[in-house]
Amino acid sequence: MIVCKSPSELELMHAANQVVATVRDEVVERVAPGVTTGDLDSFAEARVRELGGVPAFKGYRGFPATLCLSLNEEVVHGIPSAERRLAPGDILGIDLGVKLDGYYGDSAITVPVGAVEPEVSRLLEVTEGSLQAAIRQCQSGNRVGDISSAVQLHVEAQGFSIVRDFVGHGIGKSLHEDPQVPNFGDPGIGPRLRPGMVLAIEPMVNMGQAGVEVLDDGWTAVATDRRPSAHFEHSVAITEEGPWVLSLAEQSVVAGTAGR
Ligand code: MG
Ligand code: MG
Repeated sequence: MIVCKSPSELELMHAANQVVATVRDEVVERVAPGVTTGDLDSFAEARVRELGGVPAFKGYRGFPATLCLSLNEEVVHGIPSAERRLAPGDILGIDLGVKLDGYYGDSAITVPVGAVEPEVSRLLEVTEGSLQAAIRQCQSGNRVGDISSAVQLHVEAQGFSIVRDFVGHGIGKSLHEDPQVPNFGDPGIGPRLRPGMVLAIEPMVNMGQAGVEVLDDGWTAVATDRRPSAHFEHSVAITEEGPWVLSLAEQSVVAGTAGR
């Protein structure tokens, strides 16, 4: 069942997603060679709690951390560790979910650590571009398949592969709600988009083949061919006026305290 949110609920979801955006971007600022993924996770958990939120992933089906941190060939669901130290040329996927006042926010970004190979840089640009193409389809009256198709066309035109084992999702009072939002498929099919729907759209793109496998830790999904993979995600509300990207960083919120 797809739950549409009232305008006041959308405001609460915006608030939850602004905590996500703030902490996500503060984590990005701390990404540097020598930093461990465990360091980044500790920082993120403290900041989420300072801002009044609760980490949404920690304890979710037993996941042990606030952030999913996925390096290089890791697609999603990497577990932060004091043993994993970032090195120049790496790419790091940062995925953060927060619960605030009963509603969830969810967003992800993949960033380079120092300088990366041009083809890796292109992978990041294309994956982020596919998310933007998806957001443009978030119009009332369109269908979920229009979003899926936009991602797939954008990525495959650039010669990369869509991961099919994981999909985006509705979000609200639960972290994962209906509908599923695949990153592949035909336009014009699937549930119709209505004002008040909120979708976490999250393309996962492999440089090589699409296949993924889960490591023995039970969480970390890696590209089977061990080539790099990227992941970007925003929580997007459908409104009469068009897409509202709830997890887009708003300078006024981040700088809010300083500006007053
Ligand atoms: Mg996420
Ligand atoms: Mg998600």
